[in-house]
Amino acid sequence: MDKQYTTHHYDVVVIGAGGAGLRAAIEASSHDISVAIISKSMLGKAHTVMAEGGAAAALSNKDHRDSWQTHFRDTMKGGKYLGDWRMAQIHAQQAPDRIRELEQWGAVFDRTPVGLTNQRNFGGHTYPRLAHIGDATGLEIIRTLQQKGVHTGIEVFMEYTVRKLFKTDGHISGFLAYNRQDGSLHLFKAKKIVLATGGITRCWEVCSGSWEYTGEGHALAYWIGAEMGDMEFVQFHPTGMIWPPSVKGILVTEGVRGEGGMLSNSEGNRFMFDYVPEMYREEFADTEEEALEWVAEVISGKLATKRRPPELLTRDVVAKAINSEREAGRASEHGGAYLDISWRDEDEVRKKLPGMYHQFMELAAVDITKQAMEVGPTAHYVMGGVKVDPYTQETTVLGLYAAGEAATGLHGANRLGGNSLSDLIVFGKIAGEYAAIAAKSTLEYLDINQEEIDFTIEATLAPLLRLDGENPAKVVEDLRHMMQNKVGIIRTEKLLKEALDDLDKLEERAKFTSSPGGRVYNPGWHQALEIEAMIDVSRMCALAALHREESRGGHTRDDFPIPDHQKWGKINSRIKQDENGNMVIDYTTYPPIPDELKAHLDKDDLHEEE
Ligand code: FAD
Repeated sequence: MDKQYTTHHYDVVVIGAGGAGLRAAIEASSHDISVAIISKSMLGKAHTVMAEGGAAAALSNKDHRDSWQTHFRDTMKGGKYLGDWRMAQIHAQQAPDRIRELEQWGAVFDRTPVGLTNQRNFGGHTYPRLAHIGDATGLEIIRTLQQKGVHTGIEVFMEYTVRKLFKTDGHISGFLAYNRQDGSLHLFKAKKIVLATGGITRCWEVCSGSWEYTGEGHALAYWIGAEMGDMEFVQFHPTGMIWPPSVKGILVTEGVRGEGGMLSNSEGNRFMFDYVPEMYREEFADTEEEALEWVAEVISGKLATKRRPPELLTRDVVAKAINSEREAGRASEHGGAYLDISWRDEDEVRKKLPGMYHQFMELAAVDITKQAMEVGPTAHYVMGGVKVDPYTQETTVLGLYAAGEAATGLHGANRLGGNSLSDLIVFGKIAGEYAAIAAKSTLEYLDINQEEIDFTIEATLAPLLRLDGENPAKVVEDLRHMMQNKVGIIRTEKLLKEALDDLDKLEERAKFTSSPGGRVYNPGWHQALEIEAMIDVSRMCALAALHREESRGGHTRDDFPIPDHQKWGKINSRIKQDENGNMVIDYTTYPPIPDELKAHLDKDDLHEEE
């Protein structure tokens, strides 16, 4: 089989063309260097396109009381204080400028009656904070970034999958990729690389992600020696579609609850009132009357001074509540909960949530202006990822930067809705800037070891040459089913140990998959190549989840149901490969939060001794 490859040279290559990758590439190219962006999906089909509800930024347009300090506080609190406070501060301070910049580049956000960027409520945000475009915010952000990007001279390689990163003398030096359309091989030599490959949620059977979310970016970084953090924290969004089975997992935006959607069980009870955690008791309504009053004030445009409805608690809390109602035998007809927005004016629902209206009408024959939706938890986002320097986004591998969902730090144990889109544009910009500055002072491209290139090419072509192996789709299906059942929303030591054993067996099976049929448009081949990453990423989640013997944010242990603030409250898991290629785990901690920032946080939550 033809092992020829084409070699390309760029000062900076950005892997991934979602919000983080595009923003990084735009920034890097403004430094007058050669920049390429490479993406396994088509340009315009990054995951970011699917984002619905909005991007969080303390613009204070809907409520003048909002500020970066409150956004910082909400992010830290939502992340159960495991986030990197430096990233949370930078994010809260810079997000408003990044939104305004998008507007200058042509993004058409929804407007308030006086013409300001409109903002909506979302779980865990004290004030209406999400700049949005109906329920298609990601689409408009990607459209805007692409339009800006094509005028900057960035070279685009779409439908190319990166297989392996290379390091030379401890510094990143390039990678091997293949073209998914014609199967051709490509070696990229780059002075600096930005990893913006998004998330991992396709490792679960019920998820809101699309086909590209196989965690390859996480695995690429791990394989080249980068440190990974917080991989036990996976967000199960409380409201995915659950019926009919063919659409299970597809997201129902939190915007529905932000616009007043109410959750109830099979007995018609608005159960979220029973699940308000102590740390949020002050901020959330006790009674239905109080909650309705708040929503009425918000709808009429008044400042809502009262406590928010409990449906606007953070996602981890709402997802676990729906799960608990199901366990108690009070699930909706198909095993979830009812989410009802039909009490609001029909035209308003269609105007504010057009995507949701069509999604339910077309996929489930449910008219959400008249009927309740049925919803249940769906794997949605990974808080864990590649560890980065908070100020430059450089990973622990020299010359390799990471941003967006591929990176970790900002969200701690649980991400607030809307904080991802703002994360992409804040830290995508920073990653692009620092990668470009560093590339400018790097004179030469580093040599890449030929044996490593040859080895990667052999491994890439191997599934095409094996004739009687297992179908890779079956291995992927079994992996996703196993992760759903054993590393899902509720975990135990027994299940996690079983998961790690199962992953070893799946790894053996994966070595013998075959995908004959040639290199042109061969989806079986693509899938055979993705499994290795899916297995290692799943292993990171299971390993970190096994070791954290407490429940916090996106990690719930049935055998350790309570957060253990003294033992686990300030330490973040770190996973890397040891010199023998084994996956090892230990713990790190961020520097102490300075007093002037601590003053913005809720003292009781910090569990500090006087
Ligand atoms: P992506 O946008 O996923 O881009 C990743 C890129 O990497 C793609 O171009 C992909 O092709 C490429 N790639 C991956 N692997 C490889 C490889 N091996 N080789 C080459 N290229 C590769 N967040 C919010 O803040 N607000 C919301 O309202 C919101 N709504 C959401 C709704 C849905 C349905 C979903 C699924 C998520 C939502 N999120 C939301 C989360 C948010 O959309 C994502 O976290 C975010 O878009 C991730 O952006 P990214 O740039 O990191 O990655």
